[in-house]
Order: sequence, then C-alpha cells, then structure tokens
Amino acid sequence: MTDRVFSRPGEPGCLVNFRPKYENFIGNQWIPPVKGNYFDNISPVDGKAFCKCANSTSEDVEVAIEYAYRCWQSWKRTSAQDRAKVLYQIAQVIEDNKEKLAVAEVWDNGKPIREALSEDIPDAATHFRYFAAAIATQEGFLSEINENLVAYHFYEPLGVVALIIPWNYPILMASWKLAPAIAAGNCAILKPAEQTPASIMVLMELLVDVIPPGLINILTGYGPQVGKPLALHPKIKKVAFTGETTTGQEIMKYVSQNIIPVTLELGGKSPNIFFEDVASENDEFFEKAVEGCAMFVLNQGEVCTCPSRALVHESIYDKFVEKLISILRNIKQGNPLSMETMVGAQVSSEQLEKIRYYIELGKKEGAERVFGGNGKKVVEGQLQDGYFIEPTIFKGDNKMRIFQEEIFGPVLSITTFRTEEEAIKIANDTSYGLAAGVWTRDNSRGYRVCRQLEAGRVWLNCYNEFPAHSAFGGYKKSGFGRECHKIALEHYQQIKNIIVDYKRKPLKLF
Ligand code: NAD
Repeated sequence: MTDRVFSRPGEPGCLVNFRPKYENFIGNQWIPPVKGNYFDNISPVDGKAFCKCANSTSEDVEVAIEYAYRCWQSWKRTSAQDRAKVLYQIAQVIEDNKEKLAVAEVWDNGKPIREALSEDIPDAATHFRYFAAAIATQEGFLSEINENLVAYHFYEPLGVVALIIPWNYPILMASWKLAPAIAAGNCAILKPAEQTPASIMVLMELLVDVIPPGLINILTGYGPQVGKPLALHPKIKKVAFTGETTTGQEIMKYVSQNIIPVTLELGGKSPNIFFEDVASENDEFFEKAVEGCAMFVLNQGEVCTCPSRALVHESIYDKFVEKLISILRNIKQGNPLSMETMVGAQVSSEQLEKIRYYIELGKKEGAERVFGGNGKKVVEGQLQDGYFIEPTIFKGDNKMRIFQEEIFGPVLSITTFRTEEEAIKIANDTSYGLAAGVWTRDNSRGYRVCRQLEAGRVWLNCYNEFPAHSAFGGYKKSGFGRECHKIALEHYQQIKNIIVDYKRKPLKLF
C-alpha cells in the first residue's frame, strides 16, 4: 500500500467523489430537508468545509418514518436466510470499496488512513457478516409444559428503530447498530454525528442497489433538532444510542415517554493496570505491555475505551515510563492520508479546545508533566489549520479531574500503586465502567483482578481488540446493553410466546 497523494475532496486524485451537498438518504433516494437548510461539514484535516449536509428537523423524521414503515411491511416477513443475504451483500460492498470508504473516514473524522484501512472498514464488513450468520442460525425455542401443553417462543422484530451515533468511528459505529437491527427484521433510521455526516453517505451511495428502499435511512443534523424528535417519535420502537453519558441521560428521558427499549453505550475513563512482573525481563512481553499503554494515542484518544488512566506498579515506574516516552517520541503525526501517520487530527475545533482545557486543568491540579503538555499544534504547512495536538502524559492522583473525567483526546494520566488490592481500588474509583486492561505474566492474578474490575470489557495482556463475537458494553455510568455479539440481536427483538394445548377435552371448570 503506497501513500496516497494528498488531494482535497473535489481535486483530481481524491479517491472519493463527495457530493458538494448531501440531502437525507431516505427510501434509497436523496430527499432534501423539508425546511431546506444545510450545514457546512468541516474536515478536521485542514479545518476547511468540504461539503454541505442536510440540517434536518422533526419534519424530516416524519418523512423517514413513513418510508421505513413502508419497507417494514415486507422486510418483517422476509426469512432470516433472505435477510442474511442482504447483510452479506452489504459486507461485500464495504470490502470492495474499502479504500474509498477509508479515505472518506479520514476527511470526515481526521483519523489516520492506516487505522481506517486495517481496522474500521474491515471490522464494519465483519459485523455485517457476523450478524448475517447469527440471524441465519438463530432458533426460536419451545418448552414442553406437560404432555399436552407446549409453549413456543419466537423472536420477532420491533419495527422501525432509531440509531444515534457519535463521531469517533462513524462507519464502524453505524455497522455495530445497523447489522443487528436489520438482521433482526427491523428497519432503521440512523442519525450520524453532526461532526461526521459524510462518510456514511458515501457508503449509502454504494448500497442503493443492494438494500430495499426504506431499510436503512439516514438523517443528518444536530442532536436537539433531529436526534431528539427521532428518539421521541411514538412510532419508533427502540433507541440504540452511543455518545456522552449526559446525552444518554436525556435519551433515557425521551424513551420513557413511549416505554420503549433503549441501549446506551456511553463514556469511559478506562484503567490500564501494569503489574511489576511485566518488566521483570527486558523482552517482547515488556515491549507489548508498554505498547498497550501507548495505545491511549490511537484514534487521537477519541476512543470510548481509550486507556486514559495507567496504573503502574511503583517498583517499575521509571523503567516503564522511560520506554513509554521512547515510543511516543517515534510517533508520526500529521497528514492522515499518509500510511506512515499513526496519529491524525482531532475531530473538531471544539474537541481540540476541550483537550487544551484539560491539559491546563492538569497543570492547575498540580499533576506532573511527563510528556508534552503544551497543547501545541504539531502540524505545519498545508495542514496548519487542521486540528492536530501533541500527545500529553501527566503523573498525578486518581482524585484529580484529569483522572475522573473523560477527555477524549491523547492525554494519559498515570499513577502508581503498591498492592493488587490498591490497584483494584483505584481502577474502580470512577463513575464509569466501560473497559479496563490488565497486564501481568501471572495468569491466576490476571484472572482474579479481571473479575474484580467494575467494567463490561476487560482485556488481559492486550487492549482495544473488538471482535464481532465478543459482547461489548458498559457497567455503571458507561451504559447498559451489549453490542458485537449475537446476544445483541435480542436488543432488537421481542419474544412472542404462544401456548398451545393439544388436548381436546374441556377442563370442566364450570
Ligand atoms: P454526543 O452525546 O455529544 O453525541 C452523540 C450523538 O447524539 C450525536 O449524533 C449527537 O448529534 C446526538 N445528540 C446530541 N444531543 C442529543 C439529544 N438531545 N437528543 C438526541 N440526540 C442527541 O457524543 P459525541 O461527542 O458525539 O461522542 C463522544 C462520546 O461518545 C464520548 O463520551 C464517548 O465515550 C462516547 N462513545 C461511547 C462508545 C461506547 O461504545 N460506549 C463508543 C464511542 C463513543
């Protein structure tokens, strides 16, 4: 894979022909927003707008609902095998167009192409394949109550579901929700984040001949203007939300109006624990562990599971940090379209300013600066207006706000511990419970600690692996419900129970 020429959207050489203006994608058509308004979609790579997207409102929700329900009348009757076929086709389209989709993600989100190409886009295809297989093999079940009475259980779809997603993995987050939702027999209305509304539209353009009209509908725009009326609509039968914890609280209020199910994938402040034995030999495992710590910079730290708190045993702290810094010094940051680039641009100027705020806060709180900490823009020239910021490491105390609040940027807060009990206590001392990492050569200790951590996903001797067949979701204020495993199908289904009495004789009650 060679580096691609740096060509802006619209210039010759850019792999993606973004439309200058995206209407909403409804019923496999491009339908202008009812009120006719659009917003500029700014690329974090150079801080310049590269297309316009529909600024949707409640009126557009009505249009999308109508198309989605029209489709649902037939989609709900298709066999699981036929639904699986559509999902396999979607996966194939994603795979066949992976470079184009990866480039679209880069311009929309600022992430490095090497991550988009090797992780985001292939994982999105895998999700559709996984849920195709899962639905094709899902079986209802029966309970034999007695020799005459049988209880049958059928999985039935819910109807039209609302999927509201954030900006950090636009196509992957869409796939995590769309794949189980449509596999289960629902039609979907998806609202991408206003910061990244374009890459999903590039995908939809490719899917027009593959999906029935109305199966997947996309409404772009802002949360309060279109996300809220979507989540509140009485015809919506489920809301699947990924985003900030505070927004999740609002979503819970909305769904309570119509008593519909909701799943929430929210924020995190994940601990990554390094026991003393990781450094007992200067070997590959030590290198692997420190690399696992440096993963806080991946996707610019804009990962819900970002290992943003490192807990390092005090006896290895110096050696560990020395190695960590040597890794950070070699990180290549800049043009996200270069295959060499490891860290790209933050998604928006607001996000950049939020990270700078936390860097200043860390200093005010008295945390020690271990690396970076100047909030410096690190890219010059053609991309000087892009939202690039150098990674930062602080050493401090878990009570500090930089240890407790989600920064969602390449900022690591490190602290030390002396005992296993202390490590567990510090790790659990946050309101979040999304993920955690544990690094040790002692499997018994590793297992013991993993079981005591208050997190829905714990990685032992690895980090940020997201296989489609591993249940992912939070404890505590990181939300509830699970994605990425066939159990996620049940969040998009309801169970019909039919009890049949095969006996002909009356009960003789009267
Ligand atoms: P956000 O909550 O601001 O926005 C998420 C989505 O909700 C966007 O589409 C937004 O337009 C919409 N929205 C905002 N207000 C709304 C409202 N009142 N009603 C309906 N919709 C509304 O989050 P973000 O800044 O886009 O994303 C970053 C957050 O997402 C972080 O907290 C991160 O941890 C979290 N996240 C969690 C996971 C996970 O799986 N747990 C994965 C990725 C990101």
